[in-house]
Amino acid sequence: MCANHNEIAAMLREEDLAALMRRAYEVKTATWGRRVALRGLVEFSNICAKNCLYCGIRRGNSKVSRYRMDESEIVDAVAWAADNRYGSVVLQSGELETEENAAFIERVLKAIRARLGDGLGITLSVGEQSEATYRRWLDAGANRYLLRIETSNPELYARLHPADHSWQRRLECLRTLSRVGYIVGTGVMIGLPGQTVDDLARDIRFFIDEGVDMIGMGPYLVHPDTPLAADAPRTEKSRLLELTLRMIAAARLTIPDANIASTTALQAIDPEGREKGLLAGANVIMPNVTPVKYRGEYILYPDKPCTGESSELCRGCLERRVKSVGEEIAWGERGDPLHFARRTA
Ligand code: SAH
Ligand code: SF4
Repeated sequence: MCANHNEIAAMLREEDLAALMRRAYEVKTATWGRRVALRGLVEFSNICAKNCLYCGIRRGNSKVSRYRMDESEIVDAVAWAADNRYGSVVLQSGELETEENAAFIERVLKAIRARLGDGLGITLSVGEQSEATYRRWLDAGANRYLLRIETSNPELYARLHPADHSWQRRLECLRTLSRVGYIVGTGVMIGLPGQTVDDLARDIRFFIDEGVDMIGMGPYLVHPDTPLAADAPRTEKSRLLELTLRMIAAARLTIPDANIASTTALQAIDPEGREKGLLAGANVIMPNVTPVKYRGEYILYPDKPCTGESSELCRGCLERRVKSVGEEIAWGERGDPLHFARRTA
């Protein structure tokens, strides 16, 4: 569907929520069936050189004890996901642009491919990097990259980040990723201080115009140990939930063949948040497969669910949750977005 700003804004503002979700879910099932793809999420390091004003693991938060999993721990976590037929994994961390970090991630990717072969989808989510580094990781075995633009409004972005963080560079990184051959995902936070419904409608247009293959959006959650906590007006959880469901539905209606995640942050504001995300048109869930001993130190936002649960427990819980809304898990499938095949045909 080709939607203009007013049509998208109407989905976010006026349309009856249940009717909107039904419409989006119909498009989702027509395109993807009643199936959900899994991505095992490995949060392999909380060391970050950046200082985003909202994020719990920002460089300036001295309360966090910093870790980086070693190569064998990361490969083991990925192997657990593969053995449990997750089909794909996401390797996520804070952002570092050093040669040491680039070489470390390259080694990890090669070790994963050597042990598990080419079948597994590997997504990186490790921030802004040079084109050379993106190419190096692609050559080492990565297929996909997640880099949220956070907001498509550069002025709002500037208010949420220190002066040396650049919206323009993030955009350029997204375009580079696409050009060098990654399957590319982006996304935004919803309910940011100063963000309007028109901003959110423009976020959806941004996804369409940039031709992204994957979308991950979640509510902004106020972390007490961050500068933004001081002036953030708290949006009611029910409002955050509704807005996030509306955004998922609007994304599905406008980009039917994109992969859209029902994010963990949704579950932080509603115990059934992720299931509701599926019913609003999402087709991907990202269960955490990080070893439990590290989870307490990867707190981007408060009330993060599943921080004390083993990967084994998460797997069972998730299967029940997915079934509870009449969907089934696409076990062992990579789940590449159809959008990518279309874009690169
Ligand atoms: N460092 C990488 C990846 C890890 S951060 C990067 O920034 O791209 C992953 C995502 O967590 C960010 O893109 C942001 O959208 C989200 N995030 C950070 N702090 C958050 C908060 N307080 N509430 C909700 N989401 C948050
Ligand atoms: Fe670092 Fe990403 Fe958090 Fe920004 S959002 S401080 S880049 S981990």
